[in-house]
Amino acid sequence: MKGEARVAMTPDSAKQLQKLGYDCAIETGAGQLAGFSDAAYEEAGVEIVKTAAALWKTSDIVAKVRIPTDTELKRMTAGKTLISFFNPGGNEEGLELARSKGANVIAMEMVPRISRAQKMDALSSMANIAGYRAVIEAGNNFGRFFTGQITAAGKVPPAKVLVVGAGVAGLAAIGASTSLGAVTYAFDVRPEVAEQVESMGAEFVYLDFEEEQQDGAATGGYAAVSSPEFREAQLAKFRELAPEVDIVITTALIPNREAPKLWLEDMVAAMKPGSVIVDLAAEKGGNVEGTVMDEKVVTDNGVTIIGYTDFPSRMAAQSSTLYATNIRHMMTDLTPEKDGQIVHDMEDDVIRGATVTFDKEITFPPPPPKVQ
Ligand code: NAD
Repeated sequence: MKGEARVAMTPDSAKQLQKLGYDCAIETGAGQLAGFSDAAYEEAGVEIVKTAAALWKTSDIVAKVRIPTDTELKRMTAGKTLISFFNPGGNEEGLELARSKGANVIAMEMVPRISRAQKMDALSSMANIAGYRAVIEAGNNFGRFFTGQITAAGKVPPAKVLVVGAGVAGLAAIGASTSLGAVTYAFDVRPEVAEQVESMGAEFVYLDFEEEQQDGAATGGYAAVSSPEFREAQLAKFRELAPEVDIVITTALIPNREAPKLWLEDMVAAMKPGSVIVDLAAEKGGNVEGTVMDEKVVTDNGVTIIGYTDFPSRMAAQSSTLYATNIRHMMTDLTPEKDGQIVHDMEDDVIRGATVTFDKEITFPPPPPKVQ
C-alpha cells in the first residue's frame, strides 16, 4: 500500500507458518520496502503472486498490516479469514462489509492485553518501535548531542528530554533517550509507572500533591480523564519545565478518546530555539498545540514539532519482523493440530477477543476476558 512499508509475513515467519501446515504466498514486491526481496521469500518456500487481486482470490487466510479497503473486503468470500489491523471501533462500514461477505476477521488491535496474549500484542510491538523511533527522529532534528561531553573544544551539557506518558511507547522512548545519554524526565498520570521509569535511569516528575496524581489512574492499567485540578497542576509543572527541556516526546492517550492536550501553545513558545517536540498522539488529535498530523512544522521561535503517524513504517524491517511474529503466534493458536486447518475457537478468550466478525455476525465489541 502507498505510504506503508511494513509487510505482514517475512521469509522467517513464512517458514514457521509452513511448519503449521500452510502453503504461503505473497504479492510480488510486498516485502521490498522492508528489505525482504521476492527471492528471499522464494527461498523460504513462498509462492510469489503477480497481483494482490489474484492473491486474495486464491488464499483462505489473508494477513495484512493496514485496515483493509472496501475493494479488499469485497474480495473476501464466506469462511475466509482476514488477520489485520481493522479499527473496529471506528469502522462500522468495514465490519458490515466483512460480515455480509461471511469473512471471519481477526483485528490485531483487539488482542486482549493479558499475559498469555503478549506474544500476539501487535499494538505493543508497534508502540515500542514508535517510542524508540520518536527519539531517533528527535535526535535527527536536534542540532546537538544527547550526551554531555567534555572536549578540548569545550564542555557540552547533556540534552534534557521529557517523555509525557509512560506506557509502552513512552517507556521505549525513555530507554532510547537514556541510552543515548540524555538527562531524561518522564511524567504519567499513573503513579505506578514511577518505579519502571526510575529503573530505566530516568527521573519521574511528581506533582506537588502526590495524592492527586492517582486521580488520573483508572482500572485495567489505562488512564482516565484527569480532574480539572489535577490537569492544572500538571500544566503548571509543564510550564515550569518548558524553558529547561530540549526535547519533548508526548505519548499520552486515553482509550476511545481524543488525546488530551497537554503541551500548550505557551509552553511551545517558552522552549528554547532548536528544541524538538515529537507528538506520538498526533493520530488521535495530538497532545501538543501546534502539531500537524503527518507533518513537521517549525514554529516562529524555532521549535520543531513532529506529528508523523508512521513511525513503525519508518523502521519497516524491524516492525515487519515483530508484526509477522505476532501474526505467526496468532496462527499457531488458531492451528492446534498443526495441520494447515484453522480452528476458530470462540471459547478461547484471546481468539474471541480479537474476532470482530464471525460466521456472518459482527462479534465486536467482545465480552470482557475471563482470564487476567
Ligand atoms: P496508552 O497508549 O493508552 O497511553 C499511553 C500512556 O499515556 C499511558 O501510560 C497513560 O497512563 C498515559 N496518559 C494518559 N493521559 C495522560 C496525561 N494526561 N498525562 C500523562 N500521561 C497520560 O497506554 P499503553 O502503552 O497501551 O499501556 C497502557 C497500560 O497497559 C500500561 O499499564 C501497560 O503496562 C499495560 N499493558 C499491558 C500489556 C499486557 O499485559 N499484555 C500489554 C501492553 C500494555
